Amino acid sequence: MPKIAEESIRKVVENSDIVDVIGSYISLKKAGSIFKGLCPFHKEKTPSFTVRPSHQTFHCFGCQAGGGVIRFVMDYEQIPFVDAVKKLAARSGIPVVEEQGGADDKTYHERKRLLSLHQRVANWFHQTLLSDARAATAREYLLRERGYSLEVIKAWQLGYAPAHGTTLHEIALKAGFTQDELVRGGLCGVDEERQKLYDRFRDRVMIPIHNDFGEVIAFSGRILDSATSTAKYVNSPETPIFVKGNVLFGLHKSKRSLIASGAAIVCEGQFDLITAFENGIQNVIAPQGTAFTSRQAALLKRFVQTAILCFDADTAGQNAVKKSLPSLFESGLEIRVLQLPKGQDPDSVIRSQGPDAFRSRLAESMDVIDHLVRTAKVSGQTETPAGLAAAAQEIAGFLRMIPQNVHRDAALNQAATGLQLTPAQLATLMRRLKPRNDPRDSAGEETAVETNEIPPMTESCKLLCRFLILSPAARAWLAQQTSPPLNEIGEGWEILEFLLRKENDFSSPAEFSARLSLFPPAYQSALAALDLHTPETNPEKKVADTWNGLELAWTEKQIEAAKARLGQKNLSLQESLNLQKELLDLSGRLRDVSRPHSDRP
Ligand code: ZN
Repeated sequence: MPKIAEESIRKVVENSDIVDVIGSYISLKKAGSIFKGLCPFHKEKTPSFTVRPSHQTFHCFGCQAGGGVIRFVMDYEQIPFVDAVKKLAARSGIPVVEEQGGADDKTYHERKRLLSLHQRVANWFHQTLLSDARAATAREYLLRERGYSLEVIKAWQLGYAPAHGTTLHEIALKAGFTQDELVRGGLCGVDEERQKLYDRFRDRVMIPIHNDFGEVIAFSGRILDSATSTAKYVNSPETPIFVKGNVLFGLHKSKRSLIASGAAIVCEGQFDLITAFENGIQNVIAPQGTAFTSRQAALLKRFVQTAILCFDADTAGQNAVKKSLPSLFESGLEIRVLQLPKGQDPDSVIRSQGPDAFRSRLAESMDVIDHLVRTAKVSGQTETPAGLAAAAQEIAGFLRMIPQNVHRDAALNQAATGLQLTPAQLATLMRRLKPRNDPRDSAGEETAVETNEIPPMTESCKLLCRFLILSPAARAWLAQQTSPPLNEIGEGWEILEFLLRKENDFSSPAEFSARLSLFPPAYQSALAALDLHTPETNPEKKVADTWNGLELAWTEKQIEAAKARLGQKNLSLQESLNLQKELLDLSGRLRDVSRPHSDRP
């Protein structure tokens, strides 16, 4: 990614009035000193989305989305930071200076080349499908067997990769792309023996895969002759522009519809999705591959509250449901399952019975816990004590993945009732399971996830952050405190630490708000939620009192820990003496700490 010079970002922010910008996306109404509107990030009937011109921030009281003007464009358009800045720059006619840097620069150029290669190749596959004699069978397949019109084929830029004659790599090399780029982009392989380039996709119907920005980043190729022994689908391998677990197929088209409906229909196949979408059921996405990754679940959570899994009734489909559940539970999405009769999928239901039939099926979708209980019962598993125990164990495993206590408890009761167990029995099973060590996301994925999730913050932490912004004196005082260590003050300490490091970057709440867009996205949402407009009397005292409380709690915690260690058997005399001295020191500290800061020497 190229970096944009900070000076340019500042100019862009200064010249992009947040009311103008957001007002060009959604309708805003003035309400006193602020503006209100219906939140574009969650479904609502009464406006809880606010824009504060004095601070140049937005905040939604419903879904907690929030931040500066750049954040809004990033979230609304689902584009990265750099693209959002460029978009705003173009809007106000500001030239953007990009800082070129060694390795980053190289990556950026490679991405650009591979994206342009994919766009070219998608066009070529598409033109081949539309007009090449070699694509006659493929055309027949899409028009007759799939029942797609020419408009549908064009809308999804479906294509054909021929097996004979002029090949993809000949065309691409002629267009100036290198052999290395074709291999790095996953479009070609090298036959080591004959030292020759070969096309990965041959005699296949080609479905381009887009990122949510709408750029082609990979392909999926389906064979035409199901009788052949090769795989039914061949997909692009992971490349510098395509990480399978990060992409949801169809998202670039279904975004708006997902937000509007609040629920996503998760299809197994790309053709299921295209058929549904083109028949007016547009809140659809398909994971790449069979099961949902955490990244995909987090991405989906930005748009909807509910995921309706609509996988095949066969064993493979049901296994895919189960494999998707950990990521989906963790993301906090409400999960429902639509079980179609064996041998049917969204594509076949919609084509044989029409979209309305599919819609009424959707209404019959089941809460995931009920679905799991029913599956166990239908299979006869619950009829023997051992089978019941195994089913209960499996469901307990899923229950444990539900992050919020309230939801988990409700699901526990629901599952227990279904299995005819007591909630206590099921809870015991849950506790007995080993702690989860989940390797799902470890393999080579980047760590930074950009989500709308607001990092949790304790009330004390919120108060400290708020006063730190409001009062330079409170900020200076906080910066001098050494005990307790910041990482001991509870959730949200990283944000406080971040602000303390940035303390010279702003001297007033207004300046702070102007710089908010430059902060890490997750912090922006948390900070935009703080009340910075209500004036406070004596902020320094409030900060000192809050800090005092944290110090007290921390000292008490340490005393408890020292006492516990002292109670251990097999302590040497020296260890025991050291601990007693430590306890004495801590008790002395506790007395000091118990006095307010203002009374201390
Ligand atoms: Zn909202």
